[in-house]
Amino acid sequence: MTMTDAISRPSVATQSAIESALAQFDRAADHLDLGGEARAMLRVPKREWTVNFPVTLDEGRVEVFTGYRVQHNMARGPAKGGIRFHPATDLDEVRALAMWMTWKCALVNVPFGGAKGGVTVDPRMLSPDELQRVTRRFASELQGVIGPAIDIPAPDVGTNAQTMAWIMDTLSMHAGHTVPGVVTGKPVGLGGSEGRADATGLGVTFTAERALAEAGIGLDGATVAVQGFGNVGEAAARLIHERGGRLVAITDVGGGVASPDGLDPARLKRWLSERGTIAGAPDTEPIDNAGLLSLDVDLLVLAALEGQVTANNADAVRARVIAEGANGPVTPDADPILADRGIVTVPDILCNAGGVVVSYFEWVQNLQSFSWPADQVAERLRQVINRAYDEVSVARQRHGIETRLAAHAIAVARVADASQVRGLYP
Ligand code: NAD
Repeated sequence: MTMTDAISRPSVATQSAIESALAQFDRAADHLDLGGEARAMLRVPKREWTVNFPVTLDEGRVEVFTGYRVQHNMARGPAKGGIRFHPATDLDEVRALAMWMTWKCALVNVPFGGAKGGVTVDPRMLSPDELQRVTRRFASELQGVIGPAIDIPAPDVGTNAQTMAWIMDTLSMHAGHTVPGVVTGKPVGLGGSEGRADATGLGVTFTAERALAEAGIGLDGATVAVQGFGNVGEAAARLIHERGGRLVAITDVGGGVASPDGLDPARLKRWLSERGTIAGAPDTEPIDNAGLLSLDVDLLVLAALEGQVTANNADAVRARVIAEGANGPVTPDADPILADRGIVTVPDILCNAGGVVVSYFEWVQNLQSFSWPADQVAERLRQVINRAYDEVSVARQRHGIETRLAAHAIAVARVADASQVRGLYP
């Protein structure tokens, strides 16, 4: 099975990532009674690039790859957002992800705008050398587009700390000196922050724990299903397991595993490193995404891709709380179906913001050439996420609106205010 085969993309009847992002923005803009000029500015990206670049494959053949970088908004600071390597990545997907980054940075109140990038490629089909050449060539195409004061990429689907090290090195070679602040999510030895690798998963764990508590459920002893076992899903699964959550099912691109007695994420990680998927791990039952999404669990963590819970399958979800570790995993047309059934969703721009918060800490540490210990990073992350969670709870209760709208309304208002006070140039 290839990665492309296994990806459940939204059917034509459901909303694409860009349709979802725009529908969420429009709802927030309506709620805020945002003026037409502000809407027109915030609805579209500030800048976007498409680059086509040739790379020599190991067999000697040259293949042309396509990559994107979209800077949605920079009113509150330099743009920030990950780089995705995935076969289904296209400009519209990157536009949606960039817009979500603008709202996420504003919601957790870090001084960044929003951006995203991607290359249409299945990284699992490339050798390590080919992956390095694709990464370095893409990074060199982004010279002048990214930089510590302009736009700072980070890992996303199909990329990791090694990818960030190659990007930093490439841009540093062009600059003639080391530029650590050009990317975050680097290896710690290269100026990466302590705690960045687990930061998104830790934020998912904090916010899920709070949402469960509001539903009268403790994380210790809660039953948990996780879709995705990568940067976000693996960390979330491990941290939830450490806090006493019982992992009853996990899926990845190659299939899934279930066990009513609980799965051991450390054993699954070892199996994944040997086989390239968690599927088939010893002492587990197979499960697919449809099975996972319909499990009767306390917590469902969605940490794979967008468009997983839609109007087509929301009726089947039986979890008490959904934590959106991924960006856009629940489409707007699924939201009311879940809400009607009493299912609480912790929205992506709050739930998975831990990554960008520690990316901000990493950028600050790089600018200061100073590093913080792991416990300080974790404590500051907890404070920032808790403050954002509290602000969303207050807005939700004050206006009698659901959590996603409350989160988007806070974020859109902050970006609109920043744009307004900066004024128009010239
Ligand atoms: P990743 O590539 O490290 O992991 C993705 C995981 O999803 C893998 O385990 C993969 O096998 C699995 N997957 C892919 N298709 C699947 C399918 N059809 N069914 C089940 N599993 C499938 O990516 P990541 O960095 O963990 O990102 C996951 C999500 O979290 C994305 O939406 C990303 O934008 C979002 N996110 C990532 C970060 C970060 O710090 N990396 C931060 C915030 C949000």
